Order: sequence, then structure tokens, then C-alpha cells
Amino acid sequence: MDEDKNPSERYAGQRSAEAFGLIPKGFDLDTFMVELLTEQIAGLYDPKAHEFYIADWIPVADQRMVMAHELTHALEDQHFQIEGWVKAARPNDDAELAREAVLEGSAMAAMVDFLLQGTGRSLGDLPDFDPSILIGDLADSPALEKAPRFIKDALVFPYFSGLKFSAAILKPLGWSGLPGVFGKPPLSTQQILHPALYRSGKVPAPVPLPSMEKMLGSNWSKLEENTLGEFGWKEVLKQFLGEDRAKTLAAGWDGDRYAVYEQKQAKKLILLTHLHLDSEERAARFFGQYSEAFEKKYAGRSNLFRRANFFSFDTPDGGVFLDCWGSECVTMEGTTRNMFDGLTKALAWPSAPQPPPQLGAKTEKTVRTFAPMENSIVRLRSPHAPNLYNILRAADYSD
Ligand SMILES: [Zn+2]
Repeated sequence: MDEDKNPSERYAGQRSAEAFGLIPKGFDLDTFMVELLTEQIAGLYDPKAHEFYIADWIPVADQRMVMAHELTHALEDQHFQIEGWVKAARPNDDAELAREAVLEGSAMAAMVDFLLQGTGRSLGDLPDFDPSILIGDLADSPALEKAPRFIKDALVFPYFSGLKFSAAILKPLGWSGLPGVFGKPPLSTQQILHPALYRSGKVPAPVPLPSMEKMLGSNWSKLEENTLGEFGWKEVLKQFLGEDRAKTLAAGWDGDRYAVYEQKQAKKLILLTHLHLDSEERAARFFGQYSEAFEKKYAGRSNLFRRANFFSFDTPDGGVFLDCWGSECVTMEGTTRNMFDGLTKALAWPSAPQPPPQLGAKTEKTVRTFAPMENSIVRLRSPHAPNLYNILRAADYSD
């Protein structure tokens, strides 16, 4: 569990994940995470007490390997004060997850080096190293097996993607390259997923998100506002479009901001996002494919209205809107056209096309086909991401 987060922050995280379609509605994330993490702990470094623990019920050889991992955390903590270093990224969840990936990835890298001792090889010799051979089959863990896909991905991201990042960054200099990463932390999960963008210092676009509080009135409160990042968008897209298309689309990420509002009594949600893409072409592609994702997300649709850069429809839970302009897109779910117009106005965007006056109320399905996309790549702090940087998963080492 993320002990740093209080119950209302965890509630906000859970509702946000619901709003994005990342976990089923009403999914009891808290209970689930307790079960999962209890099952999975083999070692732990506590950055508050500066102590580490190893499970004594696992074989001694495994304990040594886990120790290589935990000692890396301890050493990094002595030199770089890891807790403060990770938290310095707040309140940007995407940047915080990127820093967690540095911690877990480097600890995994040390573990790999430990395992390769005496073989004459090191992490740097394994350019296309597949961490899954080390981690084994995650499905072996009963709790993880029934986890929503997003939870699994968010749990393993710091370890797997962090290891690949560490291997790439440490390759030229070896371990002496590590202090440089603490000195110049990755800014986003995008830089973890694409170490070349870390090296080139790509800075995500700052993305404004107007406050809707005044417009929504006192019946609504803002639960959450944050940045999802390339990893998070990839997870969202994956729910509806599959892994390959999600990877390609999310790779066009160039900054985002989202907010979740909740109606105080009825607990209805409004999700609002503003996404910057690398180019107009990528925004156009995002528009087409996210329209399709929306159609998959909402079974009960009526009053579909589609123009070149604008798509809207009604659902029993309110209107859904997607609008792209230049290399940017905004979405709003669970609200009214008036509210959406308020958003585009606050952003100084041209107003979206108006639907014809008499639209039938019947539900229809629009079928669109998309040309196969060329391939390319890819965050999320799990909404109340368990602070996993001090936890090593036991399932990996238990046999
Ligand atoms: Zn760790």
C-alpha cells in the first residue's frame, strides 16, 4: 500500500482509474492491493528507518539475490536520499513513476550483475535482455493472476521498464553513470520507455487545464488533477484498442493533463483530459482511434455526431466529447455540451461544430475501419500506486 496516501487520496485514485476505464466500476482496489502485496513481498527496504528486510522462508540463494537488490536501494539512499528524491517529482505522478523506475530498475540491474558474477558477462553485454526470463511467470501469483491488466502493468513497470532503462543508460559508463541519473532525473515515463529521449532531454509540453469548478457549481468537487504520461495513456488505449495500436498511439504523447470531478450526492464522475501530441498528423490519428475507443467504452450511445475533428454522443451517464485542434486533443466524459463549450472557450479554442437541430434519439453503431498503423512505442502511476520502490515481489523468486 502507499502509506503516504490518505484514504481520500486513495479514493480519488480509484475513481480516476474507473473513469479512464482502467479498472472495473466498484473494484475494491484497497483490499486487492493488500492481498497482492502481502503475497508478494520477498524483501523490502524501508527508506524511513534505513533498514532492509529479507524473507527467511525463501531459499538462501534467492535471499542473496534479493539482498543484492535491497542493498542497492540502501546504497542509493545513503548517497541520494531516495525518498525525498522521488517525492521531489510531486505533484506530477508521471514524473514520480519515472523516478521509481530509476530506483527499481537500477536495483534490478544490480541483481542481474550479481547473478552474472563469475560468468565473465555483465548487464551491458545483454543489450536486448528480456527481464521476464529473470522474473519468471507472473501468472504464478494467484492474486496477480486476477488483477486487472492495468494493475499488473503498473506494478511491473518500475521493474521491467526501469531495468531496460538502466541497462541502456549504464551501458557506456557502467555503474559510474548512475549518479548522473540522480543528478538529472527522467522527466516522464516516456523517457524511461525511450532512453534516447532521456539522453536528448526531451521536455514534455506544459499543458493547461482550465478549472471547471465555477462552471460546475457547488454540487461538484474536484477529486484529482494530474498527468497520465505515455505509460498511462498506453494503458488506457490498450483497454480498448489492443497492445500494438496502444503502443503506437501513445508514443505520440507530448504532455497531458487530466482532471476528475465528482458530484457530491450522486457520485457521478466527469473526466476531462487535455493531450498534446508530437504532430498534427498524430493528433488526427489519435482522434480517429480514440473515437473508436469511446465507442467501445460506451455501449449505450445516442445522438452520435461526427465531424473531421469533433466527435460527440450521449450516454445514460452524460455526454462524451472528443475534439482535436492542431496537435492537441481534449476529451470530456459525463457532462453536457454547455460544459464542453465552456472548456474550449477557456482554452481559447474555436467552438466545436454544432449538431443538426433534430437528431434521432435512437442508438446507432458507427462502423469505421482504420488502415493498419505503422508500428512504433510507449504510464501511470497506478492511481493510488502502491509505493513499490521499497518492495520486491516474492513471487519472482519463490521457486
Ligand atoms: Zn526494489
